[in-house]
Amino acid sequence: MNTEPELLSTEFRALSARLGQDPLQVQGPGGNTSIKSDRVMWVKASGTELADAEAADIFVPVDLAQARAQAHGAGDGSCKDTVIDPAITLRPSIETTFHAALDCTVVAHTHSVATLAHAISPQGREVLRRKLKGMPFESVPYAKPGLPLTQLILSKVTDETRIVILENHGLICMGNTVAEVAGTIAEVEKRLALSPVIPDTQTPHSPALSGYVWADESWIAQNPRTATLAVSGSYYPDHVVFLGAGLPQSASDPSTPVILIKGEGILIRSDATPSQRAMLRCLGDVLCRVPADWQIEPIGTEAEAALLNWDAEKYRQALAQRS
Ligand SMILES: [Zn+2]
Repeated sequence: MNTEPELLSTEFRALSARLGQDPLQVQGPGGNTSIKSDRVMWVKASGTELADAEAADIFVPVDLAQARAQAHGAGDGSCKDTVIDPAITLRPSIETTFHAALDCTVVAHTHSVATLAHAISPQGREVLRRKLKGMPFESVPYAKPGLPLTQLILSKVTDETRIVILENHGLICMGNTVAEVAGTIAEVEKRLALSPVIPDTQTPHSPALSGYVWADESWIAQNPRTATLAVSGSYYPDHVVFLGAGLPQSASDPSTPVILIKGEGILIRSDATPSQRAMLRCLGDVLCRVPADWQIEPIGTEAEAALLNWDAEKYRQALAQRS
């Protein structure tokens, strides 16, 4: 079957790479883009990085009709068996079903820091509604990425929707050309921009634990408000996937990637992965933009457990032991 490789235009790859290389849009392997014809959709593969969209083969071709059917409940929703070319070993992103079901040629999903800073806060969501007034957007409450999120998105969007705000998760912009989507992203980012306010930071006094170094984001631990927010929960899914729930205040095991010592700083393992570093940076980028008078809402232990494939009750017991 023809995979229509010409869909992967220079312009599409360039937009994907630009989003992937901007830590205020995408962190590590997060975010995904797609482009489709009537029969074929190319979508970012799971575990690859948008940043590499021009330098490497990060997209997989899927059968559009089959992927759409999965969005509506056929199959397991992973779209693994919708990949057209059997020689391709990459798996489509777990967010493939919403790319397929949204009826626009180009779909771009980011974990935009400006969007997150609004969409994790009840007051922020109100402000966002005012800032995006006149634009074709819908807001969708948190759901686990994959089929549950796709089905919630489909229950909210209309033929006119071009922007989807994913509460406690990120942003989807879509349109019929790459230029249209790039323009929509730029307008949303302009309207939602918040200035970063980073309090004065001191170099932590104590020596770092063996195997760890003090992170640039240590200001989060030195500021009582942000320290409490950082340890009291997780605010979007990729944080949980790469750093675990919230930020622990002690090492539960030697592989704990990041530890927050209140009043002192944040320790990060010297051998932390680039994705773990990107997620810590993201937390700092979000927390320094949320105005001090906005509350922020964690996704909750049930959602954390689901992301980690834990039984919810066992997970809560493990969390209680850790603190
Ligand atoms: Zn996402």
